[in-house]
Amino acid sequence: MARKTFIAGNWKMNLNHLEAIALVQKIAFSLPEKYYAKVDVTVLPPFTDIRSIQTMVDGDKLLLTYGAQDLSPYDSGAYTGDVSGPMLAKLGCEYVVVGHSERRQYHHEDDELVNKKVRAAIKHGIKPILCVGEALDVREEGRHVPHSCSQLVAGLKGLKAEQVKEYVVVAYEPVWAIGTGRVATQNDAEEVCKALRATIADKYGADVAEEVRVLYGGSVKSGNIGELVACDNIDGALVGGASLQADEFTKLCALAA
Ligand code: PEP
Repeated sequence: MARKTFIAGNWKMNLNHLEAIALVQKIAFSLPEKYYAKVDVTVLPPFTDIRSIQTMVDGDKLLLTYGAQDLSPYDSGAYTGDVSGPMLAKLGCEYVVVGHSERRQYHHEDDELVNKKVRAAIKHGIKPILCVGEALDVREEGRHVPHSCSQLVAGLKGLKAEQVKEYVVVAYEPVWAIGTGRVATQNDAEEVCKALRATIADKYGADVAEEVRVLYGGSVKSGNIGELVACDNIDGALVGGASLQADEFTKLCALAA
């Protein structure tokens, strides 16, 4: 299998630009270069930190990459408070999170908007990390697989197979596991990640499905990353809380490699 393990740290609305510099420095210092041959590591800070991180990554030729947590579906214009794909591309962002459950919940983002954002990211050469996943009631009703797969299909609507293959990262994030300390079991996570990959195979072909990285997200720590990446269809993790502590995040990245 050609897929390289991928660990993405979603900082959410934490750390100012000075704290961001300190954290990236610590991660860069404590994760030896040899690990990057086996695992891609990216950090996803708030917008206000990105320029500082860009300066440090470029200046010190760091091997980790960085991205953003959201983008506008539009390139420019009268959209107060929004940040566009061209702006993020100019800052060297390699990834952008799209459709995180916190944005779906607090900003009422629906599948149609998520799809527009996915397409905006790709248009500007940024890889969308498309988040899908069910709330607790959906899981309790046993609808977690079709629910997550339908979010995936809607999020990728209109994309060509080559675009999916080259750009898209999928993150399965059951809402009930995010920030709760309640991690999905290996079997629960693998069941949905496998179904997501099968959906990609069905829509875009087996060769595309073989390349696309599918991550798990939801209370991932150094203590559970090993069992998650041991699954056939889990290629890494989208990490929230544990990505804010340099020691823990570095340990987690090393264990994933
Ligand atoms: C997330 O924010 O995407 C996430 C998975 O958070 P946590 O790891 O804190 O559950």
